[in-house]
Amino acid sequence: MSPTNIAIIGAGLSGLTLALALHRNSIPCTVYEARMAPLDIGGAIMLSPNALRILDTLGAYARIRSQAYEFDHLFFRSAKNELVDSYEFGSERYGYHGLRVYRNVLIRELSAMVTEREIPIQYGKKFLHVVSENESSVTWAFDDGTTEMASCLIGADGIHSRVRKYLYPEMEPTFTNAMGVTATVPTAQLRVPDGYELPVTIMNPNHGAFVIAPQLSDGSEVLIGRQKRAPQLDRDGWDRLLSDKQWCIDFLRDGVNDFPEIVQHAVSDIDPHKINLWPFYVVPKLDRWSSRLGRVAILGDAAHAIPPSAGQGINQAFEDVYTLSLIMAGAGTEMSFNIGLTIWQQRRQERVDKILQLNAQIDKRRMPRSADMDDGSHAPFDLQWLYAPDFDAMVVEWFDF
Ligand SMILES: Cc1cc2nc3c(=O)[nH]c(=O)nc-3n(C[C@H](O)[C@H](O)[C@H](O)COP(=O)(O)OP(=O)(O)OC[C@H]3O[C@@H](n4cnc5c(N)ncnc54)[C@H](O)[C@@H]3O)c2cc1C
Repeated sequence: MSPTNIAIIGAGLSGLTLALALHRNSIPCTVYEARMAPLDIGGAIMLSPNALRILDTLGAYARIRSQAYEFDHLFFRSAKNELVDSYEFGSERYGYHGLRVYRNVLIRELSAMVTEREIPIQYGKKFLHVVSENESSVTWAFDDGTTEMASCLIGADGIHSRVRKYLYPEMEPTFTNAMGVTATVPTAQLRVPDGYELPVTIMNPNHGAFVIAPQLSDGSEVLIGRQKRAPQLDRDGWDRLLSDKQWCIDFLRDGVNDFPEIVQHAVSDIDPHKINLWPFYVVPKLDRWSSRLGRVAILGDAAHAIPPSAGQGINQAFEDVYTLSLIMAGAGTEMSFNIGLTIWQQRRQERVDKILQLNAQIDKRRMPRSADMDDGSHAPFDLQWLYAPDFDAMVVEWFDF
């Protein structure tokens, strides 16, 4: 019994994309968002071909492409500025170049598409808790005292998900003891040497990694960012740190003389209004992403926040969304929706596990190593499995037994 009307908690990237994917399959849904307006936090995200194929199918790719920076490789350099490695993030052979796009551009376009399709979005509706669930429906409460009912409730409410609390009351995301601080500066400020390829990560064994990644379609702006170990803070603590712009600037400039000149230029002039802070949390591996009765499920960061090494965080959320919409539309119809959800979670978890393995391999390659060390560990990754799947065929295969 597939659900007939879906409630989506969260109008972030996962929630909005799920609304579009369900609409494409003629499944009615309503989106509820705690904020009073679409999320407008700064910073760009990197989209790889697996996610771009999904956004293309939903009609969003054509709307964002002209506003994004296209690239195929991420480059890695030593503290002495020697090119030591590269990692493919897109290519014509996967059908799409990688894209860096501002998160608010993507949110704006997805929100506009949701509105154009007359899918209801209710802002200022903060989900509090599930009131009751049975075989055919779920009822929940908002913090304004109202309750609603739907045949299925999907938590697309991010890493600190409240919907997940219904499935795992005690579970909290785990801090990875690392954080990133980023800023946006004009590319001209960097005085990029001829032939110096971007995006680049410059790795310094004493000071960690410094990232430079172009944004906007003409690459006229770059994100600069550093990732380092950090002690855990509570939410207020992170907010205080983010509002302490001088601390963030000092963080970006720390030890800068031990980096190549391009980094020194990059941090020479930083607009305090263009700073972001990203503490890296992960969600411990969950046994299930849905309730026993199958009327409540979670996806995206709520189910599996992934550390950034392979740049797959949001890309995997789009995979969750698209495959779930196919299951809701009736793939594997001869079995119950509840079993469909279980199979969906198992297969998605297998892919997430593969990404986590890839992250570990990438992290290992980024460790300092002597120049004469050639153990074959720098051979290019085979990323066909990651970037080129046919998700419709994949879902059919999940149920083909
Ligand atoms: C500074 C920064 C930079 C990042 N850069 C990258 C990157 O380059 N590449 C990448 O892949 N990932 C990146 N990430 C991670 C990426 O942003 C997440 O993977 C992605 O946003 C997850 O999308 P989501 O829709 O699942 O959750 P979210 O984006 O967190 O959206 C959740 C939505 O739910 C709403 N919500 C929360 N609680 C409730 C509630 N109780 N009731 C109603 N609504 C609620 C929120 O307001 C929000 O709109 C970055 C994260 C940060 C913070």
